[in-house]
Amino acid sequence: MAERLARQADWLSVREALDRILATAAPVGAERVPIADAAGRTLAEDIRSPLDHPPWDNSAMDGYAVRAADVRGASRSAPVVLEVIDSVRAGTFPKRSVGPGQAIRIMTGAPVPEGADSVVRVEDTEARPGTPERIAIFDDRDAGHNIRRRAEDLRAGALVLEAGRVLRPGEIGVLAAVGRPEVAVTRRPRIGILSTGDELAGPEAFEHVRAGRRIADSNSYALAAAVATAGGVPVRLGIARDDEASLRAHFEAAAGLDVLITTAGASVGEHDVVRDVLERLGLQLDFWRVRMRPGSPFSFGRLGRMLVFGLPGNPVSALVTFEVLVRPALRRMAGRRDVHSRTIRVRVAEPIESKAGLAHFLRVRLEPDGAGGLAARLTGAQGSGIVSSMAEADALLVVPEAVERLADGEEAVAIPLPAADAGQEAFGLPE
Ligand code: AMP
Ligand code: MG
Repeated sequence: MAERLARQADWLSVREALDRILATAAPVGAERVPIADAAGRTLAEDIRSPLDHPPWDNSAMDGYAVRAADVRGASRSAPVVLEVIDSVRAGTFPKRSVGPGQAIRIMTGAPVPEGADSVVRVEDTEARPGTPERIAIFDDRDAGHNIRRRAEDLRAGALVLEAGRVLRPGEIGVLAAVGRPEVAVTRRPRIGILSTGDELAGPEAFEHVRAGRRIADSNSYALAAAVATAGGVPVRLGIARDDEASLRAHFEAAAGLDVLITTAGASVGEHDVVRDVLERLGLQLDFWRVRMRPGSPFSFGRLGRMLVFGLPGNPVSALVTFEVLVRPALRRMAGRRDVHSRTIRVRVAEPIESKAGLAHFLRVRLEPDGAGGLAARLTGAQGSGIVSSMAEADALLVVPEAVERLADGEEAVAIPLPAADAGQEAFGLPE
């Protein structure tokens, strides 16, 4: 006991802690997947276009392909009349070119015939009876317009997507447009999640919880969900008891994983032996303790090639440290270029006090502030054991170390929690 208490706590700033974690975390290998399964994955190769897209100058309108010189000056009172010599729709090619005094009927996407430099929209025209077929044009606003140029979108040989980008629907569309049925993406890191504590019971033993003898293990479920939203594969390793034999047995089950996340047993209590046992197994501890609340008893190290994150046991501390310190590392491991969490600017909707010397991450709900921005209101009691408060929260309000109070209405920064578009009030689109 005395020996353990003597261990130096590092008390790093959040920034230092994150820097050290990111200096160690590295992308895992790549694999090939069909693009239909690639949404949300991170691109592991640069993509160049093998072709020009669009492959030809094509019409942006349904109308008539014409020469601008012919239609300039056309108006209601002085319409221009042209002879219609052909018709071309998407999927066909023009057989003739447009000469002076001529027009070719054209549909959106169809190749623009030689000679034409404009497409006059059909609304500005009227068919004239008789043969040959003729049209009258009443407006010259489309002279020189409505042609989408070859390669204006993607050019043959050009880099169209860089490695490290997350594949969203837009990127998947580009991959299909450049003819990639499969693509190299970073493998999903496999993340072991281990709850520790003699007081815990899983859902299969909930009768002990109901009888008041045990606490429900909520951390491993919440963290598995967090890992899944971060692009990792959660591997649930169960609940270890607060003794060496049980911990060792569970750590063995983590062999070969990319990351191990433990919760609880991370403080200075007599039964907080998680780190001790890991160190006996070869853990190289990088640091322990961070100047943040909740979550200060956080530790980070390596066991062989596996990164080990020791999260505090309190459910709020576990999820907050995951968001602040683990999620960016998983982004790096997933090969992403942008590893830092996006933050948003908010106004606090009430005065907030916080202890100097610790960065605070407060659970807040976001609501419209009436001026086009967002107001952040505390979810209620901020105790680190309040499981329901994470479910209530849309974001974590960041109160930096040096700040001791925020006045009502003051600006601050917040980290949106994942899927901020779910379970939250709809603000509606502007008119
Ligand atoms: P510890 O870090 O072991 O001191 O635990 C801190 C608090 O978190 C205690 O109240 C524990 O009962 C609680 N706790 C620890 N692990 C879990 C878990 N997996 N799920 C829910 N609560 C937990
Ligand atoms: Mg404990």
